[in-house]
Amino acid sequence: MVFISPGVKFDLGLIKKYDTAAPRYTSYPPATELSEAFTTTDFHTAIAASNQRKSPLSFYFHIPFCQSACYFCGCNTVISNNKNIAKPYLEHLAQEIKHMSTLIDPDRKVLQIHWGGGTPNYLELDQVEFLWNKITQNFDLDPQAEISIEINPRYVDKEYIFFLRELGFNRISFGIQDFNSEVQIAVNRIQPEELLFNVMDWIKAAKFDSVNVDLIYGLPYQTLQTFRETIKKTVALDPNRIVVFNFAYVPWLKPAQKNIPQVALPKPQEKLEILKMTIEELTSSEYLFIGMDHFAKPNDELAIAQRDRTLQRNFQGYTTHAGTDLFGFGATSISMLNDAYIQNHKQLKDYYQAVANNVLPVSKGINLTPDDIIRRDVIMCIMSHFQLYKQDIEEKHRINFDQYFSQELEALQPLAADGLIKLSANYIQITDIGRLLVRNIAVAFDQHNQTQERQFSRTI
Ligand code: SF4
Repeated sequence: MVFISPGVKFDLGLIKKYDTAAPRYTSYPPATELSEAFTTTDFHTAIAASNQRKSPLSFYFHIPFCQSACYFCGCNTVISNNKNIAKPYLEHLAQEIKHMSTLIDPDRKVLQIHWGGGTPNYLELDQVEFLWNKITQNFDLDPQAEISIEINPRYVDKEYIFFLRELGFNRISFGIQDFNSEVQIAVNRIQPEELLFNVMDWIKAAKFDSVNVDLIYGLPYQTLQTFRETIKKTVALDPNRIVVFNFAYVPWLKPAQKNIPQVALPKPQEKLEILKMTIEELTSSEYLFIGMDHFAKPNDELAIAQRDRTLQRNFQGYTTHAGTDLFGFGATSISMLNDAYIQNHKQLKDYYQAVANNVLPVSKGINLTPDDIIRRDVIMCIMSHFQLYKQDIEEKHRINFDQYFSQELEALQPLAADGLIKLSANYIQITDIGRLLVRNIAVAFDQHNQTQERQFSRTI
């Protein structure tokens, strides 16, 4: 038995029972539903509707380059040590920003910016400044905007960190994955402990508002003991947020994983023990279990947003600022508007060609139906707040919840019997045990659900 909050326990048998494949619900419908039938005209229509709503803006900028391949990674990256390849990319990104600025109402403020990848700090400092200037020259940033960047700790120095902070970045995130050197060698990501502590010292000295670190459990050669060491060292680093991803071994989808010896992966039972220990260690070290794989200190914005019910999910995971329209820039990036999701071309040549022709670089997308929007509200409420008041959904969407979702409520009965949820006349409450298995609960409301083991990762 393990305690995930005081007085609450769960057994591993229950976790095993629900260890099935399910979407991570960073969006609903999931990104797998995006279709090439969606056109640039559809995107223009969606932007016009977004302007009508006048909702504030959230931006994502994708930098797809990395200096070397981490074998666990499933991101769409270009591996190269030739820094010149970033130059044409930035020029096209600048052109995309300019084009989008002519389409988005200039009165709309930007509340949130995130640079992800790939490796955003693949860029040289003058390139970072170039992109920053293009953003600030074309859009109106709120003075309180949350501006975050992912960095690879192997490729920064103190000057780089301080430069980011002076430019205006106020949140930062970096991947640790595992402190253990044998694991690091096996996944081709060698970053000594001393380096990680130095990077954290520079970040703290530069006074970033929040620091997130990522860990991964289920990597080759991990054991309960080695990962306990990793958790203890991570707590000693003292980040504001910790995300502990479950490693999904899917080499048929992510070719770099073929470099990982399958026999070295921890067995399912050991993975569960690692998960249990991780939750125990972090929740007894002042971190709150936000949900799924996220932990945050009680005074962190993520924990505050959960308390204020403004937490939501987007393609980066949990995020603050519900109610913004997210526009993605750069190859692969996804825009999430209220009633449409749009993905840019993945291949650089397709992205370059569209941008050069002053055409929105749309590769696929989806227009949400009214039913999708109702279900999204339900699923996001479950995923982010772990409780749903039926009346909120009924008033917002003018439905009778119990009638509209009669089959779904029926399907949830066995989960209620297993203690994952409490079903009452007025609300659905996810229990502390259910938080770990929240994808299994959300999937009951997924109309697009054609869950395939090969398409989605397992829930634990
Ligand atoms: S984990 Fe990060 S640095 Fe490593 S290959 Fe993936 S995107 Fe690049």
